[in-house]
Amino acid sequence: MVNDEGSEMQAARLDARLPFGGAAPRGGTVRYVADAVVPCTGGAVVLRPGAVEVSGDSVTRVGTPGDLRSSSDGDIREVRVDGALLPGFVNTHCHSPMTLFRGTGENLPLLRWLHEVLWPREAHLEPDDVYWGMTLAAAELLAFGVTTSCEMYFHPDAVADAVVGAGSRVVLTPAVLALPGTETAGDWWTASLEQYADFHTRRHGEAGRIEVGFAAHAAYSVPLAGLVDTAAAAEARGALFHLHVAETATEAEAFEAEHGGSVPRVLAEAGVFDGRVLAAHSIWLSPEDIDTYAAHDVAVAHCPQSNAKLASGIAPLTDLLARGIRVGLGTDGPASNNDLDLWEEMRLAALLARLRQSDAGALPAGVALDLATRGAGAALGRPDLGVLAPGAKADMMAVSLDDPAFVPLLDDAMLIEHLVWSASSRLVTDVWVGGEQVVVDREVRTVDLARARAEVGRRAARLASY
Ligand SMILES: [Zn+2]
Repeated sequence: MVNDEGSEMQAARLDARLPFGGAAPRGGTVRYVADAVVPCTGGAVVLRPGAVEVSGDSVTRVGTPGDLRSSSDGDIREVRVDGALLPGFVNTHCHSPMTLFRGTGENLPLLRWLHEVLWPREAHLEPDDVYWGMTLAAAELLAFGVTTSCEMYFHPDAVADAVVGAGSRVVLTPAVLALPGTETAGDWWTASLEQYADFHTRRHGEAGRIEVGFAAHAAYSVPLAGLVDTAAAAEARGALFHLHVAETATEAEAFEAEHGGSVPRVLAEAGVFDGRVLAAHSIWLSPEDIDTYAAHDVAVAHCPQSNAKLASGIAPLTDLLARGIRVGLGTDGPASNNDLDLWEEMRLAALLARLRQSDAGALPAGVALDLATRGAGAALGRPDLGVLAPGAKADMMAVSLDDPAFVPLLDDAMLIEHLVWSASSRLVTDVWVGGEQVVVDREVRTVDLARARAEVGRRAARLASY
């Protein structure tokens, strides 16, 4: 379940990469001039037209083309972009290599799905399965304009290799979890933690694209001592600690009986929430649990589509936001969603929040967009992601406005409404990560999509036999 491969396998993967087919930065500053720029820095700012200047892998200036031209100096190459430029979306909770299990175990609730379908198959994963599962997922994410994903999975070297190959960006939190057939005597998680600590040492910060954190699956699947040790390993490195919390109504019954309190309360008292914490799902929280999150600045990865598909519940999104809790959207794995399209999460988050509150004004479009962009970066502790602002990573997408979804366009506010309520991922035309263009005119240039589909199809058929 952890990395155990040699450099030979890694070299073979690098050979499989396509020669970079996008437009790599040529050095110097590039000014992208678009019909509109939506910086997503908070508030409903729209620049029509707008411009974004990029130097190296970062944004240097954002403004109207006139402002930037009149105050610029030096040699700037200007690139015209049709449509609206937005920051790349940030997917805060994902198990992307589960492309290998898409469409399996349908119609089961979470715990039966995990125990009867998913975990028995994941126990047979090889690193190259994970590499191809992640490669296919990265292509899917990039095509949807999702430039960063926060991944909780096994075989982290294979995930990292796939991300570097695809030219996307990741916050990678390898997971402590005992799959069927693994040793569970004593402090069984210690061996995983040693390997993940080594992985952090080797690959954190690689290519400017890979941030390494730590994950423990959940309080119902990892003992409290394992959660404490994993959180401590993360905190010691200033790294993100990622786990599932309160995804279903009944998952914590045994934990609460053993420890005499809710999962958030017991974890907070044990020091698990002392560092940077990202709690996925967080549906079944009491008001006291929400107080605990607020007091410890625990961030939430909200996954409305996975939660709906598995009938897990509807998270108290507006309550979390009202308490100032950092929230970002996540797709969860493509075996429980079943795609990686954050545009769908954005709309569903708003729809479910309105139903839950019986309020047609709950979660306005600007807030929904924020959850996929600035808010998602903030949830990961990464203010340089999900915004177009000086100092942010030059992760961007161009969205075609030449579509019925954007008619009529009477004012700037309506552009935000249309992005959330009538547009979709099909309108994403071009994508850049760290200033490198990876999607050109709807084509992902960094992944051999035909090979990735074939590899995942073949490997999924093998895994389905378990
Ligand atoms: Zn998950």
